[in-house]
Amino acid sequence: MEQRIDRLFAILAPYGAVKDVPLAAHTSFRIGGPAQLFFEPGDGAALSLALESAKAEGVAVTLMGNGSNLLVSDAGVEGLVVKLGSAFSGLELREDGQVFALAGTLLSALANFAADHGLMGLEWAAGIPGSVGGALAMNAGAYGGEIRQVLCEVEYFDAQTGEFLRRAPSEGELGYRQSAFAWPARVTTAAAFRLGPDDGGMRERMREYSEKRRAKQPLAYPSAGSVFKRPPGHFAGALIEAAGLKGVAVGGAEVSELHAGFIINTGNASSADVHALIELVRRRVLERSGVLLEPEIKFIGREQP
Ligand SMILES: Cc1cc2nc3c(=O)[nH]c(=O)nc-3n(C[C@H](O)[C@H](O)[C@H](O)COP(=O)(O)OP(=O)(O)OC[C@H]3O[C@@H](n4cnc5c(N)ncnc54)[C@H](O)[C@@H]3O)c2cc1C
Repeated sequence: MEQRIDRLFAILAPYGAVKDVPLAAHTSFRIGGPAQLFFEPGDGAALSLALESAKAEGVAVTLMGNGSNLLVSDAGVEGLVVKLGSAFSGLELREDGQVFALAGTLLSALANFAADHGLMGLEWAAGIPGSVGGALAMNAGAYGGEIRQVLCEVEYFDAQTGEFLRRAPSEGELGYRQSAFAWPARVTTAAAFRLGPDDGGMRERMREYSEKRRAKQPLAYPSAGSVFKRPPGHFAGALIEAAGLKGVAVGGAEVSELHAGFIINTGNASSADVHALIELVRRRVLERSGVLLEPEIKFIGREQP
């Protein structure tokens, strides 16, 4: 493996690839060991060079955006980690009125850009700390809004064929916290959004949502947002609270007192702490209410259960 990594490093180093990069700094949980090789491509050519070279060398690839929905193993990630972040960002208002965003653009920047141009439809997205690519991969949503409602075109790299494609999403390709535009099948490189004119209440809604987040979410602590998907007919946070788990901790990982759906890192939580707490929560909620919670966050790296 080491030799294959060295050969891949030789190809990607001129474009900025670095070895042994601690991933804690690249995740909102502030948890995670090193990526064997870490690369932030600046454009589609660098992205495809990285993915095609890794494929040719048989090196595993992990793809991330802003790292706000990830739990990365303390033992780090074997192979190549590709991050589509600020190096891959940009926004444009097209002549047809659509807003175009590169995948590494922050969702908050997209929502604010749209609002600054008097375009409505992304108010709910301003407080979500992900990238546009991550939002498409998760079909991110809040307060009744979802990315699929405003998405009109996707540009992506097909990992199997190595082609860049551009098209409208088809019916059913994005659903509740799942999407066809997600690694390992595809890498979203850009997206276009169809928005409407401000109905006069847009700024007020943005203020209201951001106040709600500040009041109801433990934003002072590192986390990955809601840990679990919403089970049909229930709210994960309410089930967790009803099981008496608010404030329950394993090491540095704690079920938030403010919002039981969040697990927070109170200082030096390890990924093992978070895993153990997730399993404890799932077991207790199952015992108490008969509902098996499914994680929404993605687990990456070595030695994951
Ligand atoms: C405080 C807080 C509040 C949050 N609130 C919300 C909320 O209200 N609603 C909500 O939906 N989420 C919320 N989240 C979760 C998270 O912000 C979203 O899921 C976000 O869309 C993830 O984007 P990301 O760029 O951080 O993706 P990452 O966490 O980096 O990656 C998530 C997944 O997407 C894949 N992926 C990332 N980029 C791409 C790409 N370009 N192409 C293909 N696959 C890709 C990754 O491989 C991974 O599987 C919250 C998180 C935090 C910390």
